Amino acid sequence: MKVYGVTGWKNAGKTGLMERLVAEITARGLTVSTIKHAHHSTDVDQPGRDSYRHRAAGAREVLLSSPHRWALMHELREADEPPLADLLARLSSADLVLVEGYKGAAHPKVEAHRAANGKPPLAVENATITAIAADAPVTTPLPRFDLDDTAAIADFILTELGLMDQPAPVQSAADLIPPRLKDDCFAMPQGVDWVPVNQALSRLKSVLHPVTSVENVATAQARGRVLARDAMARRSNPPRPNSAVDGYGFAHAATGSGVQRLPLAAGRAAAGQPFAGAVPHGSAIRILTGAILPDGVDTVVLEEDTVTDGATVAFDGPVKPGANTRKAGEDVVADTLALPAGHRMRAPDLALLSALGVASVDVYRKLRVGVLSTGDEIVPAPDLPAAPHQIWDANRPMLLSLAAGWGFDPVDLGHVNDDPAQIQNRLDAGAEQADVILTSGGASAGDEDHVSTLLRQKGTLSSWRIALKPGRPLALSQWQGVPVFGLPGNPVAAFVCALIFARPALSMLSGAGWQMPQGFEVPAAFSKRKKAGRREYLRARLSEDGTAEVFRSEGSGRISGLSWATGLVELPDDALEVTPGTPVRYLPYTSFGVE
Ligand code: AMP
Ligand code: MG
Repeated sequence: MKVYGVTGWKNAGKTGLMERLVAEITARGLTVSTIKHAHHSTDVDQPGRDSYRHRAAGAREVLLSSPHRWALMHELREADEPPLADLLARLSSADLVLVEGYKGAAHPKVEAHRAANGKPPLAVENATITAIAADAPVTTPLPRFDLDDTAAIADFILTELGLMDQPAPVQSAADLIPPRLKDDCFAMPQGVDWVPVNQALSRLKSVLHPVTSVENVATAQARGRVLARDAMARRSNPPRPNSAVDGYGFAHAATGSGVQRLPLAAGRAAAGQPFAGAVPHGSAIRILTGAILPDGVDTVVLEEDTVTDGATVAFDGPVKPGANTRKAGEDVVADTLALPAGHRMRAPDLALLSALGVASVDVYRKLRVGVLSTGDEIVPAPDLPAAPHQIWDANRPMLLSLAAGWGFDPVDLGHVNDDPAQIQNRLDAGAEQADVILTSGGASAGDEDHVSTLLRQKGTLSSWRIALKPGRPLALSQWQGVPVFGLPGNPVAAFVCALIFARPALSMLSGAGWQMPQGFEVPAAFSKRKKAGRREYLRARLSEDGTAEVFRSEGSGRISGLSWATGLVELPDDALEVTPGTPVRYLPYTSFGVE
């Protein structure tokens, strides 16, 4: 139990400050008890009252009871006044005990101070006083509050005692230097056989790891970011037991079966407006959704199941114990895992962490994805003229936009001709500006495949012959320690290879872990015979009857098919004869993060 005191000279406003603090702090949902020390007589010392008469006649203890309260009075007679610790031990548990008086006891105190009293603050001599609440300026090294600024004084006391849920400190993320990939990580035995897609994928998965450093961002700004560390709950949700409905709250033990009639306690408990007192056993109180259950309430009956005349509420029993209430921490318990490292933050995650008081999170810096187009025939942008032997760059806007859609920072490395010096310069620049580079074109093993030639000579090229259609060898390399994915030039093949290989690989590099698309089986609306030996991805769309149609042509230059499609149909590595109705696996574009 936390103890805090209010002290001060006579007429300094101690009792007024106590009263305001009790009201303020209970209104915040904490239970507060008080102890008051008086030097002479107290308000129960008035002669003539019944309890006075019992005591005056010689009773050892008098316990006064009514439907509203009970009070135990213990007569000291010749005995010494007990120390504060003994008195504290007699109280039922509460979040805070505010003590008026006892200025010599060790607990921390705020001093109420009135300038008109003409006395120097007690704090000058009393080291247990930690703050001054004064009605006029006072010279003091201690925190000083306006005597009437109850909210600020309560904030101070609750903070001192650790009873306030503080806003999360903004952490400074250690700017760790992320490890580079191993030089030979892309090495693949260069056999004559084609590597099955799954084997290529598991190989990639095993050699990649996060390559970006860590930064701290506000939770509200964290959408799309990847947690670099576990996010832990700073507080339970809900923090206190509360009501799940609008209705009437009471102690279950006071009710039974049959019609229940409970007197209504005055007041009500609402969300943000907790009921300060305790509800007497056998009484009920009006309670609204989200309100903290007041002391004496553990069960709530739904308003619709009751009748009331304003003084009594009646309902049919039995009501289940704890009905219509939410337990503290029933959603999330304080200091437990809220979201694990590697999790990519979405709108609901922002809600969760905010509800748990997590103000900022450590996230990986966004992966910078460089995109470079190559080819003598390529005109960099559609606002430039193109001769008949030239084509506008389709891959670069596509790949940049895929990278952005996946939550990465796209870095436009432009276009270069099939010229080793130009490619080399641009890769040099790319290695400075990006964490990973995607190139398109020139990645096969032919005379004009300058990207793979250069990467073989000056990088660490490994040509992965993957058993995949559409697709050609995937050129994997590092350039000055930066991984380079050489994608095919054909836009259709570049797109498919980007979705199947680049997406999970980039995700791994970004810290978000390996990502596979979630597909589902649908009946084919087409016929196709396929040989064993390689996996095929067809541009497809779901028709209204839930079957998968495929694009009329499989030609990998047919960019229009990519736009026509809403996803891909994946045909397995084995031989397969598809006829209308054959189940096939459909992977919507959205399952690849393409929107
Ligand atoms: P490559 O892989 O360089 O042999 O190119 C294969 C095919 O893709 C060729 O027809 C190229 O003209 C075409 N191509 C290469 N890069 C692009 C690009 N950025 N945009 C559109 N088509 C391209
Ligand atoms: Mg080319």
